[in-house]
Amino acid sequence: MSYKNALKHSIFEVIGNCADDLKIDAYVIGGFVRDFFLKRGEAKDIDVVAIGSGIKLAEKVASVLETKPEVTIFKNFGTAMLKYQGLELEFVGARKESYTRDSRNPVVENGSLEDDQNRRDFTINALAFGLNKSNFGSLLDSFNGVRDLEEKTIRTPLNPDITYSDDPLRMMRAIRFATQLDFVIEEKSLQAISSNRERIKIISKERIVDELHKILLSKKPSKGFALLNKMGLLQLILPELTALQGIEEIEGQRHKDNFWHTLEVVDNIAETTTNLWLRWAALLHDIGKAPTKKFHKKIGWTFHAHEFVGSKMVYKLFKRLRMPLNDKMKFVQKMVLMSSRPVILSEEHVTDSAVRRLVFDAGDYVDDLMTLCEADITTKNPRKQKKYKNNFKTVREKIVEVEERDKIRNFQPPVTGEEIMQTFGLKPSKEIGIIKDAIKEAILEGEIPNQYAAAHEFMLKKGKSLGLKEKNK
Ligand code: ATP
Ligand code: MG
Repeated sequence: MSYKNALKHSIFEVIGNCADDLKIDAYVIGGFVRDFFLKRGEAKDIDVVAIGSGIKLAEKVASVLETKPEVTIFKNFGTAMLKYQGLELEFVGARKESYTRDSRNPVVENGSLEDDQNRRDFTINALAFGLNKSNFGSLLDSFNGVRDLEEKTIRTPLNPDITYSDDPLRMMRAIRFATQLDFVIEEKSLQAISSNRERIKIISKERIVDELHKILLSKKPSKGFALLNKMGLLQLILPELTALQGIEEIEGQRHKDNFWHTLEVVDNIAETTTNLWLRWAALLHDIGKAPTKKFHKKIGWTFHAHEFVGSKMVYKLFKRLRMPLNDKMKFVQKMVLMSSRPVILSEEHVTDSAVRRLVFDAGDYVDDLMTLCEADITTKNPRKQKKYKNNFKTVREKIVEVEERDKIRNFQPPVTGEEIMQTFGLKPSKEIGIIKDAIKEAILEGEIPNQYAAAHEFMLKKGKSLGLKEKNK
C-alpha cells in the first residue's frame, strides 16, 4: 500500500530527489507519520532520517529550493534544521545508540534504518515513509506501530526495561502521549516505568516541566497525573500534590481527599480555558492544605490560611523545577492566594463593597479567578452543584455591574499624593499614605463614589481630623 497522499507537500518529493542524487535513502519518520494515521492534522515539525549524512541531505535540499532557506547545523548532534513554508524540517543520519548508566545522552554510531527505528521511544513513533523514487510513500513499520495506533497502545520497540532505563525522559513521554492521545500504556511498560522511576533524577527539570505542560494542556489532564501518581513518579516530581492524598477520620469527622479533588478541578478547568498558567493554578490551588491541616474537637477539620501558605509554596515549587519566576509565577500565586475569596462571597449575601474589594485585589485577573472557583465545584450533590453555580453567576453579574459604575479594576487613586501634599503643605510623610488609604477604603466601602470631587472633599475632611491645616486658607 502506498501513502503518497500523506506526502502531498512538494517538499517531500524534493527531499526524495536530492536523496536519489546523493545515492542515499531517506525517510520521514516519527510524529509526522503517527499524526497522519491519527488524523491529528498535518504536523508542522517533520523528522527526516537519512541512511548517510543528514546534514549533507539538508544542505542539498536547501540549495535546490528557490527560497534558499538557511540550514542550521548542530554538529554535536549530527543534525540539521531548515525552515520552509512554515514547516520545520529536521534532518538526521540514521543512528545506532548505546547508553551509559549516568546520562541520557547516548554514544552514537552510524546505523541502518532498522537501527534508527530501534532507538525510537515507542512503536507508534517508529513509523516511517520512504521518500526515494523507488519507495516513495511506502510504509516501514517494523514493530507493528500501526496496529498499536489502532489498539491505542503505547509500547516500546525493544525491551521496555532497557528503553526506560536508558532514557528516563521516555517515562514522562509515555504518560504524556497516553494523556494527549488517550492511549493505554501496555503492562510491561507500566512495570518498567514503575521500577525505573528513581532514574527520573538524571533528567533535567526543564524537560520534565515541558512534559508536565503538555499533560496539563491535554483534554483530560487527570489521566496523566493519575498515571504519574500510580507509577510513583509524582511523588518525586511534585510531592506537594501527593501529600494531599488520603482521607483522615477522627471522631467520625472526615475531610475530602484533596488530591483527587484537585484532579477533578483540573479536568473541569480544562473544559473552559486553554490558559496553561490558569491550569497550573488549578493544579496547585490546594497545596497549602497538607501543611495546614488540623483537627479541632469542636469544629472538625480546618486548613487555616492554606491559601497564603499555598501561594508561598508556589514560589518554592517553581524555583525547584526551574520554572520562570516571573509574572506567570506571580499570577499562579495570586490565584492560589485568592482562591477562596469568591467562595466566601457567594456563600453570603453578595454586597457591593465585597465585590469592589474582590475586583480591587484581583485586578485584571478577576475573570480567571472566577473561572478557577467555578472549576472548584466538585460536589456530587446536584442541588448543591446548582446552588454554587448560581451563586457564582450572581457574583459575576455583580462584578460587571459594579465595575461599570465604580471602575475599580485598575484602580487609580482619584486624588494623588502630590495633591495631598500641596493641599496641606506637606513634605513626604506618613500622613499622605494615611489619607490616600482612607480615600481608597471609603470608595471600596461605598461611602463615596470613585470620583474626583467626592474624593477631594473626603481628603479635606480626613486632613482636618488629623489636625492638618489647608495651606492657602
Ligand atoms: P510531538 O512533537 O507531538 O511532541 P513527536 O513524536 O514528534 O511528538 P518529538 O519530541 O518531536 O516528538 O520527537 C520526534 C521523534 O523523535 C519521535 O516521534 C520519536 O521517534 C523520536 N524521539 C523523541 N524523543 C525521543 C526519546 N526520548 N527517545 C527515543 N526517541 C525519541
Ligand atoms: Mg515532533
